[in-house]
Amino acid sequence: MARIKCIGILTSGGDAPAMNAAIRAVTRTAIYNGFTVKGIMRGYRGLISGEFIDMKTQTVSNIIQHGGTILKTARSAEFKTPEGRAIAYENMRKEGIDALVVIGGDGSLSGARIFAEEFDIPIVGLPGTIDNDLYGTDTTIGYDTALNTIMECVDKLRDTASSHERLFFVEVMGRNAGFLALNGAIATGSEAAIIPEIATEVDQLGELIANGFRKSKNSSIVLVAESPLTGGAMAMAERVKKEFPQFDSRVTILGHIQRGGSPTASDRILASRMGEAAVNALLEGQRNVMVGIENDVIKLVPFIQAIRKNKTVDRALLNTVKILSI
Ligand code: ADP
Repeated sequence: MARIKCIGILTSGGDAPAMNAAIRAVTRTAIYNGFTVKGIMRGYRGLISGEFIDMKTQTVSNIIQHGGTILKTARSAEFKTPEGRAIAYENMRKEGIDALVVIGGDGSLSGARIFAEEFDIPIVGLPGTIDNDLYGTDTTIGYDTALNTIMECVDKLRDTASSHERLFFVEVMGRNAGFLALNGAIATGSEAAIIPEIATEVDQLGELIANGFRKSKNSSIVLVAESPLTGGAMAMAERVKKEFPQFDSRVTILGHIQRGGSPTASDRILASRMGEAAVNALLEGQRNVMVGIENDVIKLVPFIQAIRKNKTVDRALLNTVKILSI
C-alpha cells in the first residue's frame, strides 16, 4: 500500500454543530504529522464537481466555536451512482488526494463504505449527526449541542404552557431515533417522550392519557420524535382534538433550530478527540472504519457495523421520565 501523502476532508448530509471543530482537528493533526490536507466543498457533490481548497493551519483558525461547517454540506444523488463515484475518484486522483476523512451521518458513511471498497481508498469516518443514531459509539458530534438547544427551547415553552395550563407537543429531530426526545424529556422535566423505537409496540399517547398524566400538573409537555412511526407532533395533536377534546393542546416543531448554534464544550472536545483519532487511524493503516467513543475511550468501528446495526435506546429511561413526572 502506497504511503498516504495527502488527506481530503469533507462534510456531508445533514449538518451538525461541532463539525467545524472536527474539521479543525483533522486538519491540524494531519499537518502535524506531515500530511498535506485538501478540503472538499459541499460533500460528495464537490468531489464530483471538483471543488477543492488547500487547508492550512490558519484555514481552520477561529472556527471551533461556530456551528455549521466551513466546508459546506450537501446531498448528492449522483454519488449514489457508479458513474458519479467514478468521476469523484478521477477528481480525487487528479488532485493528489490519497485518503479521505468523511464527516457525516448514516447516509454519508454508507456512501463512504461503497466508495472505499470500489476504488480501494483508505477512508475513515467521523459520526457527525445530531441524531446519535450510529452504532458503536455512545454519542455523536452535534448531539449534545442539539440536546442543549432542545432544553433551552422547552424551558421557554414551559413558561407559557404553565401560564395557560396547556398540553404541548414539541417535535424534535431524530429521524427514527428517540435519543433526542428521550434525553430531552429528562433534561426538561417533560411529562413524556414519544419515540419511534416502541411506536409499533405501544400506543404511547393512549397510555399517557389513560394514566391521567395531567392530574397533578397545570401543564404538560410531551416531546415527540419526528418519524413516520410516531407521526410527529401534528398527528398527536390531531388525535387529541378528536379523542380527548377536554385538553387544550398546542404544537411546537423545533425544526432546524436544532442543527445550529455554538457547540457545547462536550461536543467540541468530542469532535477534537475524534478528529485527531481519524488521522491517527490512517497513520496506522486503518481504513473503512468510523471513529466512535465508548465509556470515554476512543475506538474504531467498521463502517458496516456503524451503519447497519441498530443502536438501541435505553428503555429504562422511559421509566425514568415516567417516575420523575408524577
Ligand atoms: P446523512 O449523512 O446526514 O445521513 P444523507 O442520508 O442525506 O445524510 O446522505 C448524504 C449523502 O451521502 C447522500 O446525498 C449521498 O450522496 C451519499 N449516500 C447516502 N447513501 C448512499 C449510498 N447508499 N450509496 C452511495 N452514496 C450514498
